[in-house]
Amino acid sequence: MSDEVQKAKEAAAGDGDGDGEPLTIFDKIISGDIPATIIHDDEFCIAFRDVNPVSPIHFLVIPKNRNGLTQLSKAREDQKELLGHLTYVAQKLGQKECPDGFRLVINDGKDGAQSVYHLHIHVMGGRQMQWPPG
Ligand code: C5P
Repeated sequence: MSDEVQKAKEAAAGDGDGDGEPLTIFDKIISGDIPATIIHDDEFCIAFRDVNPVSPIHFLVIPKNRNGLTQLSKAREDQKELLGHLTYVAQKLGQKECPDGFRLVINDGKDGAQSVYHLHIHVMGGRQMQWPPG
């Protein structure tokens, strides 16, 4: 079993930053308490390089205000615009960094191999991606 899948099995959604969920490592990246290579920063989201890249280009797009959005399947109707914004930013950056194409992935829950319970879009590229994914 890969490290990421093991982490996903152990991760749990719980309690903590005003939205009833625990602080995650991504909250600490947003606050600057944990360093990250940030490549985009706007009112609603940041994007930063994945610390453990699985492709030559691999970054994450995350909402600044998680507001209960621990994972995609927790999205509420009033968060549809935010989801659109995250996807829009992901493709803009993806096009810029990977002009020949890229892949977006959102892992959701244990079986989806999610390890950090703060919604994030993986953007991967810089090589030929394979299908199906593992
Ligand atoms: O989808 P999943 O929850 O498994 O992805 C979490 C991602 O966050 C991993 O790809 C991991 O490498 C990344 N990460 C990071 N910086 C950290 C902690 C985790 O880029 N400080």
